[in-house]
Amino acid sequence: MSLRLAAILFVAFLAGCAGPGGGLRMNTDHTAQGQDSRVQYIILHYTAGDSARSLKTLTEKQVSSHYLVDVDGTIYRLVDENRRAWHAGDSAWKGAGSLNAASIGIELVNKGFQEGANGRAWYPYPDRQIDALIELLKDIQTRHDVDPDQILGHSDVAPQRKLDPGPLFPWHKLAAAGLVNTPPRALIEHRLNQLQGQVPPAFWFQEELRRLGYTIDSTGEFDRATINVIAAFQMRHRPARADGQPDLETAAWIMSLPAPR
Ligand SMILES: [Zn+2]
Repeated sequence: MSLRLAAILFVAFLAGCAGPGGGLRMNTDHTAQGQDSRVQYIILHYTAGDSARSLKTLTEKQVSSHYLVDVDGTIYRLVDENRRAWHAGDSAWKGAGSLNAASIGIELVNKGFQEGANGRAWYPYPDRQIDALIELLKDIQTRHDVDPDQILGHSDVAPQRKLDPGPLFPWHKLAAAGLVNTPPRALIEHRLNQLQGQVPPAFWFQEELRRLGYTIDSTGEFDRATINVIAAFQMRHRPARADGQPDLETAAWIMSLPAPR
C-alpha cells in the first residue's frame, strides 16, 4: 500500500467515525429515560386525483406526506418518518395545533367526489388499498405507540376546510383490525334509549365534540362551523348520513365514546 493510499484510507476512517455534526465528537454511552416518539398522530387523507397526478403533486409541490398508498396496494415512502411532511396544514386536535410537527401523514390515491344531478358521488376505496393501509398502520402504531384515538382523518383535525378521507373511508375495517376504537352497537342502542327521543341542544353537541378532541366554539347555535364539525364526526363514525344535521343517533354515538386520554 502506498503512503498516499494509506493516508486516504485513514481520512476515510476518521470520517466514518464522525458524529452527526460532521467532525463533532460526542460520547453516546448514556441514554436518557425521559423520551418518547415524536409521532403522536397519524392523519389520513385522500389525494383527490389519480395515481400519476397524486405522485407528481406529492413529490413536486409544497404539499407532501410520509406515505402514499395506491389503489393496487403499492406503498410509496416519500418523506422519512423522522422528518416533517406538509400534509395537515392549519389543524388541531384536543387543543394541540400545527399537527405536521407531531404526526405521520398518509395519503390514499382516491378522487374524492364528483358533483352530480343527485348530489355528491364519492369514490370508494378498493380492498387491496385498505389492506395495505392496515398493514402500514399496524407497523407505524407498533413502532411509535400511537394512541387509537389519535389515528385521525384530515376532516377531524381541520373540519372547517377538509372532507378527506370522506364518508366512504372504511373506518370500521380499521376498528376490526384493532387500530381504532368503536363502541359496541348495544351501547349505542342503550344511549338511544336514554335520550328518549330528545335531540340535545347545540351547547351539548359543542361541549361533547370538544371533549372528544374536535375544535369547536360554544356558540349555542347550530351554526355553519358546528354543522361542519358534526359532519366530520358523522363521516368518521356514522357515515350513512353525514350531512352535519344533529340527530338522535349522532348524539347516541357521541355519548358512547369515552373521553380520549
Ligand atoms: Zn388531506
